[in-house]
Amino acid sequence: MEKSTLDIVKLGNPILRTPAQSVSDITDPQISQLIDSLIATAEANNGVGIAAPQVSESFRLFIVASRPSIRYPHAPKMQPTPMINPKIVSYSKETVKDWEGCLSVPGLRGLITRYQAIEVEYCNREGLVERRVLTDFIARIFQHELDHLNGMVFLDRLESQKDLYSEEEYQKLIWD
Ligand code: ZN
Repeated sequence: MEKSTLDIVKLGNPILRTPAQSVSDITDPQISQLIDSLIATAEANNGVGIAAPQVSESFRLFIVASRPSIRYPHAPKMQPTPMINPKIVSYSKETVKDWEGCLSVPGLRGLITRYQAIEVEYCNREGLVERRVLTDFIARIFQHELDHLNGMVFLDRLESQKDLYSEEEYQKLIWD
């Protein structure tokens, strides 16, 4: 069966700068359909995460779907996980600076500082609250996607413009 994928909006689209609204009815079939489409869209674009505003749906909902791909060869493999109305409950003192990219910011990579570990809370697609500790790359994805729900992109967190690379130069670095 053909899975439906959605168009990803790019930097400059105002929806990426708009804080998203909470999902009030998680079991609404439209939300369920949006979750399935987001998972298919992340997969089709080799993304390790995708947030609803990136497909022009301004809801507090994202998918974390880490797996190795051409865009992230060293990513750990996990089941695509929908996280609805997500929040960070607590975070580590330790931070890590590492590479990020974004399906809405094609052609660029940046070194971004994130918390190494976070305790998070979100609703799953059945509407149940889940609390988990996320670390390293998965914690990074969560923090990146949460920014999208608040109208931010990773470029806003660059400490220096020297930390911004072209996709081409980034690929040379990681495959060397
Ligand atoms: Zn992004």
